[in-house]
Amino acid sequence: MKVAIIGAGATGLAAAWTLAKNGHRVDIYETSKGELGGIAGAMPIGKTRIDKIYHHIFTSDTSILDLIDEVGLSSEMMWIEPKNGMHINGKLYPFTSPMDLILFPAVNLVSRFRMGLAVLRAKTVSDYKSMEDITAKEWLVKKAGQESYDKLWKTLLTSKFDKDADKVSGVWIWNKFKLRGSTRKNINSESLGYLRGGFYELYKKLSELVEEKNGRIVYKKATRISGEGGKIRIDTESGTQSYDKCLFTPSPASLAKLCALPPDYLKKVAKIKHKANVCLTLVAKKKISDYYWVTIAEEDSPFVVFIEHTNLVKDEKYEGKTIIYLSKYLDQSDPFFVATDREIKKAFLEHLPKLFPSFSEADVFETHIYRSLDAQPLVGLRYSEDVLPLETPVKNLYIASMCQIYPEDRGQNYAVDRGIAAAKRLMEE
Ligand SMILES: Cc1cc2nc3c(=O)[nH]c(=O)nc-3n(C[C@H](O)[C@H](O)[C@H](O)COP(=O)(O)OP(=O)(O)OC[C@H]3O[C@@H](n4cnc5c(N)ncnc54)[C@H](O)[C@@H]3O)c2cc1C
Repeated sequence: MKVAIIGAGATGLAAAWTLAKNGHRVDIYETSKGELGGIAGAMPIGKTRIDKIYHHIFTSDTSILDLIDEVGLSSEMMWIEPKNGMHINGKLYPFTSPMDLILFPAVNLVSRFRMGLAVLRAKTVSDYKSMEDITAKEWLVKKAGQESYDKLWKTLLTSKFDKDADKVSGVWIWNKFKLRGSTRKNINSESLGYLRGGFYELYKKLSELVEEKNGRIVYKKATRISGEGGKIRIDTESGTQSYDKCLFTPSPASLAKLCALPPDYLKKVAKIKHKANVCLTLVAKKKISDYYWVTIAEEDSPFVVFIEHTNLVKDEKYEGKTIIYLSKYLDQSDPFFVATDREIKKAFLEHLPKLFPSFSEADVFETHIYRSLDAQPLVGLRYSEDVLPLETPVKNLYIASMCQIYPEDRGQNYAVDRGIAAAKRLMEE
């Protein structure tokens, strides 16, 4: 079987490897010139690379861990206990363990107790369907109280979903509580995983393995996709190729721009919304905090997450440099998303010393900005009704995109899992 895969991200490469090792001929089309890994791609730093956008994985991420093992990279996995924090009401507090939550001074004692109970209660919910009709906000207010919602959870939801925070389904928050619980060794300690050299190393390895099996990475944008007599035709600026099957991995909205699809399917596509993300990476001379991940719950801050990557990952190839990511999720139509790099850098860097007074712009060697349009699907009420199936209305054209991951939330582990599952279905049908 000859298969076209659109997108050399985690989903596309996992699918391509599954098909290639089973004897199928695969061409992977990728828009970004020479880049692999999609959102989980990398950029060069010192004598190595780091992720363009911060990434870590959890001990419960078994699909990606199995794949890392299969391609011989297990020895490159690092497991580290993070130190996380929250910046709220002008102060930085530790926020790693349930104990930090219980001792968290920004809300009163009764609210803290109710918050702890809410987290525990979420873990006992076994069927996500019971959380589909209630928003995360309603569920949190009911279980943890209005005070803790207003002072804490609202900020956490807003940090991911911006203006749409109130629309997020209870399933999303249930999932977060469950996931964080399953990645703890014991109640107070959690381990996060990072692949030495960035997760790019996995994607590079997969592409090499696909090429060894006569697959190709075609660094060209698919400009049109059409079905013709059961075959799938892929157009690029430099020609056309025909395939038995095609797996599309970017968002359904981008498929709708490339392919003629029936109106009822387009209506479903239009219902699926994503938030965008802007991420600024700083490569600096000195460390500025002891924390890995700090949620910024300050209303005037232009970024909502601060990640000091080098407080999690120690690698001599970074040559002693400090690597920091500042991130903001926002509406795809927000003017800040299309602001110039200079404007974004100015807004973020002017604010950083207000939160971390030891930071000085003079210590920054390099900055990089990465924009991601389809960064986080907006998981609303009864989202199960909106999830598109793998098959599209065009025969032999399939879609496996981030927004189809449900009830889990997006992440490399599920991208790999769904990529492999999609490849298996293509081989079966
Ligand atoms: C800010 C942020 C932080 C994250 N943090 C984590 C984390 O800590 N841990 C974790 O596991 N996950 C994290 N994720 C999620 C993770 O990055 C994604 O779930 C995963 O990388 C998605 O992979 P994908 O292959 O499905 O999609 P993508 O990575 O989006 O890949 C799609 C590919 O398709 C290509 N493409 C698009 N259109 C075309 C076309 N017409 N022709 C050819 N190619 C095309 C794109 O260039 C891209 O390479 C994070 C995501 C974001 C945005």
